[in-house]
Amino acid sequence: MTSVPEPLLPGSMIGLLGGGQLAQMLVLAGHAMGFRFIVLDPAPNCPAALAGATQITAAYDDFAVLAELADACDVVSYEFENVNADAVAWLEERVDLPQGSQLLRISQNRLREKTFLQKLAVPVAPFQKIITEKDVTVAFEELGELMLKTVTGGYDGRGQARISSTAQIPEAFSALSQAKTEIVAEQFVPFEREISVIVARNRMGEIRCFTPAENLHKKNILTISRIPARLVPEVSEQAQTVAKKIAEGLELVGVLGVEMFVLPDGKLLVNEIAPRPHNSGHFTQNACVSSQFEQHLRAITNLALGSTELYKPALMLNILGEHLPLLLEKLKDLPPEAKLHLYGKQDCRSGRKMGHLNLTSDSLESLLEPLQKLGVWDADLLNKML
Ligand code: AMP
Repeated sequence: MTSVPEPLLPGSMIGLLGGGQLAQMLVLAGHAMGFRFIVLDPAPNCPAALAGATQITAAYDDFAVLAELADACDVVSYEFENVNADAVAWLEERVDLPQGSQLLRISQNRLREKTFLQKLAVPVAPFQKIITEKDVTVAFEELGELMLKTVTGGYDGRGQARISSTAQIPEAFSALSQAKTEIVAEQFVPFEREISVIVARNRMGEIRCFTPAENLHKKNILTISRIPARLVPEVSEQAQTVAKKIAEGLELVGVLGVEMFVLPDGKLLVNEIAPRPHNSGHFTQNACVSSQFEQHLRAITNLALGSTELYKPALMLNILGEHLPLLLEKLKDLPPEAKLHLYGKQDCRSGRKMGHLNLTSDSLESLLEPLQKLGVWDADLLNKML
C-alpha cells in the first residue's frame, strides 16, 4: 500500500497554468484557505492576477519560465485543457502536478477521450474518425444526422458543425479542415436534456460528486444551469455513478466536469470530460457546503474532500459580453437571492464569459418573473429552465 500523503500547509505556493476566470476563482477560494498563488498566463493582467495571484507573463511552453515555476511552487495545477501537454509532462518531472499530463492528453483529444471512455464501458454517442470528405458521407449514411467536430482545440462550440443533409457536407468539412487537426463525426444525439456532474477525487482515493446540474446552451455556449437537474432519482444516481467510474478509471486527483446527454428513455451518454473546475459547477460557490474550487484545492493539496451537500436549489446564469452592459444598468434591480461574480475582464465581446450570477431559492420557479423583468437573459431560455 502506498503511504498517505501529507497535506500541504497554509502558506504553501500553488502554481496555476492559465490565469482565466477558473484560476481567478481558485485563487479566491485558496486565499481563504491560506494558500499563495503564482499563475502563468501569456496575457498581462489576467483575471487570476486581478484576484491577487503573482503573474508570470509568458508562453505556456517557455521552458525557462516553467523551470522557475517548478522551483517556486509546492504543487502545480492547470485550469484549462489547451495548455501544451508536452510542457506539462516536462513540468511533472520537476514538481508535484497531481492532475498529471496523461489526463490532459486524453481530455484534449476527442478521439482519445471517447476511446478511453469506451474502454471503461461508459456509453458515448457512436462516432467515426474522419480524414476525407468522403468519410463524412460514409459516416452520414451509417450514423444519420451528425455533429462534426475538430478533435483538438475546440471549445464552447468552436470547431463544430451540425450535418442534417448531405448537401451540408462540403462546406462543413472545408470549414473544419481549416483548423488543420483531425476531425471526428459523432451521431447527432436527440437528447431530452444536457446535464453535468462535477466529481472530485484525492490521492487517498476518496471520491465525492456534486448534485447533477442541468445545462442549457445557446450557440454551444453554456447559458443557464439549474440544480438539481430535472431527473428521476435513478437517473441522477446513475449520472453520479458514471462520473465516479470515470474519476476512478482516470485515477483523478482534482475535480473533473463530466458532461452528459440524457435521452428520452433516461439513458445517459457522456459527451465530454474536463479535468478541472467546470462552468456548470459555479453554483457550488453559493449553494453548497464546499465550492468546486475549494474541492479542487483540497484534492491537490492532499486534504480530505469537503461536503458536497446542496443547501438549496440553484440557478447559474452566465454573463456573456452581450449581457454585461444591460446587467450593469440593472444592478439595483437584481433579486435579493442573486450573488454576482464578475471576472474583471476589460475587453467585453459578444460570447465572451465576463461573469456569472448564482441564485438560490427553495422555489426556482419564483425567480422567473424577476429575471424576465430584468430583461438581460433571453426570455425563452429562462422559460425552458424555470
Ligand atoms: P461540446 O463542445 O462537445 O461540449 O459541444 C457543445 C454543445 O453542442 C453540447 O453541449 C451540445 O449542446 C451540442 N452537441 C455536441 N455534440 C452533440 C451531439 N453529438 N448531438 C447533439 N448535440 C451535440
